[in-house]
Amino acid sequence: MKQELVVATKNKKKLEEIKDILKGLNLRITSLADYPAAPRIVENGKTFKENAAKKAVKIAKFTKRLTMGEDSGLCVDALGGAPGIYSSRFSGKDKDDLKNNLKLLKLLGSLPLKKRKAHYVCAVALADKGGLIGAVEGACNGIIGYEMKGNTGFGYDPLFIIPEYKKTFAELGPRIKHKMSHRFRGLSKAKKMLLNYLRRCYT
Ligand code: IMP
Repeated sequence: MKQELVVATKNKKKLEEIKDILKGLNLRITSLADYPAAPRIVENGKTFKENAAKKAVKIAKFTKRLTMGEDSGLCVDALGGAPGIYSSRFSGKDKDDLKNNLKLLKLLGSLPLKKRKAHYVCAVALADKGGLIGAVEGACNGIIGYEMKGNTGFGYDPLFIIPEYKKTFAELGPRIKHKMSHRFRGLSKAKKMLLNYLRRCYT
């Protein structure tokens, strides 16, 4: 029987990306949609890693299954690293990608491209019923455009330009995004941790 990995998220787009990036592993990936009674997680950590660890530990305790917590966001140099850990709630309590993008465009105004540098961060933590196994992080550099372009991905992807392609992640699509994104890089490190863990448990 395949080992289950619970991904502690309700974000369907994020889950799709995680499944696609981890598809080579022999795992049955479930999410919070499969555990409707799971406790709510208050994201009050000070760093991406703290939030990812909190999600993993709390949900692993509840499900008694190997669990992955993921916390990610966008850090914009000209805004001192904001929105950072507040990326999903940048424009208010309700998560609204369009409002978040419009707020970002407004704050950056007509700043020249060289002052619009940003990076995405993705922290990934693993836990089992005994507690935290470990946490790692991946990042991806880009530039914030002047208008939203493309219709794939989610969040800030229509504004996040990859300099070598001169296109946004939303224009580039999953085939390219999932080979170079912060999530791909964070999950690649997490894969090693996951394989070591499975080896320790099953040999
Ligand atoms: P979380 O669910 O608390 O980790 O919030 C992540 C937020 O960061 C999302 O709602 C997006 O606003 C932003 N974000 C993280 N990763 C990405 C990505 O791959 N593309 C676009 N936005 C992202």
